Amino acid sequence: MTSSSITIAIHRGSNEIGGNCVEIATGTSRLVLDVGMPLSEMMNDRYARKQKPDRDELILKGVIKHIPGLFSPGPKIDGILLSHAHGDHFGLITYTQPEIPVYLSSGASKMLMSGSLFAEQHDVPRTRQKILLPEKPEQIGAFSVTAFLVDHSSYGSLAFLIEAGGKRIVYSGDLRLHGRKPNMAKVLLKAIRKAPLDLLIMEGTSLSRGKEPGVSEKDVETQLVASLKETTGLALAMFSPQNVDRLVSYYRAVIRTGRTLVLDPYAAFILYLIKSECKVPDPFQDKHIKIFVAETFLRSMAGRRLQKLIPRMNKVKISRAEIEAAPGTFLMIFREWMYERIFDRKLPAGSRFFYSYWPGYLVSQPSLKELRARLEESGCAFDLVHASGHIHYQDVMEFIEQAKPLKLMPIHTTAPQELVSKFPSIIEIKPKVVI
Ligand SMILES: [Zn+2]
Repeated sequence: MTSSSITIAIHRGSNEIGGNCVEIATGTSRLVLDVGMPLSEMMNDRYARKQKPDRDELILKGVIKHIPGLFSPGPKIDGILLSHAHGDHFGLITYTQPEIPVYLSSGASKMLMSGSLFAEQHDVPRTRQKILLPEKPEQIGAFSVTAFLVDHSSYGSLAFLIEAGGKRIVYSGDLRLHGRKPNMAKVLLKAIRKAPLDLLIMEGTSLSRGKEPGVSEKDVETQLVASLKETTGLALAMFSPQNVDRLVSYYRAVIRTGRTLVLDPYAAFILYLIKSECKVPDPFQDKHIKIFVAETFLRSMAGRRLQKLIPRMNKVKISRAEIEAAPGTFLMIFREWMYERIFDRKLPAGSRFFYSYWPGYLVSQPSLKELRARLEESGCAFDLVHASGHIHYQDVMEFIEQAKPLKLMPIHTTAPQELVSKFPSIIEIKPKVVI
């Protein structure tokens, strides 16, 4: 290796969706981009055991790989860059060497904190966190790292421009270009095109999902408005509040149809955390918002930790009786456990359920399948309203054409061959390259 060459190793994620882990090394410095849990393992963990997986078991399964310095003592790693707060990008962080600093956006830091309080996710100790400001280069070892906000389905998602020894590398993270702020990609592309790009590590989730133009977040809002206009009863919505774009789509749809949005404490907390850094409604002051505070929340870890916010929640809280007195005027955030424990398996007549996660979960998760069947049996309409968090097929091609990389490494995809036919002269589908 010459002094100016850089080695890029995709430890995981080059031929699967999720579990990203990429190492970028010069002769003197090492950076790791994301430390994701493979999706298959996340399903297992989250839905079967709801426990923190055991390190030895993860090593045995090959989920934790032998990468000296990262998961075990070894040569120094200068930093871990987290692109966003989805488990398939940060889920192994808790098993990494505690002295490695973790670089992330302020938004991702807030999502990690709220996820640990409400969704049993891992947090990163504050002492390890280094907040990256968008478009402000940061020197980390031999690397200059510039973070760019991108419009993925997790608030505070980043792509990274990494420069060292005269070479320029971009890691897309997960991004989509059809969220509520598609212009973020223009800022990234403008920065990319200032000088030749030696390598683009590009997410390609949608490459296996068809070439047809997909649904955008604006389409989601339009679809919600049309469905809500036809709904006489209670509207219920299931989605991740960390997908703030989606939360805003619901908020706008209720305003356009004269309803009130009923948040849970998790969604209210997220809006409260981020309202100082972006344009979202204040959950405790907005006339279109109420909060449903379940008894179980008050006794939960989140409830105990957020004592200070409870008086503010109480000021705008709404009861089940109030909702059931005028169900046609509300859209309420819904969780699986509520069907039995809040609604006694009986929803108001004319109710409609909006499912707003990736539709694959409806097939892979038995509890969701069952919930859907029960709701439909009881006469509740079921709508799938979703826009992917990932860049659509044609937009991947266009993004690469505009970025004009000298080399291209696909990641987060099961269909890299789609890029082979389109970019034969630049694509590298092997997991390790030197530039
Ligand atoms: Zn993601």
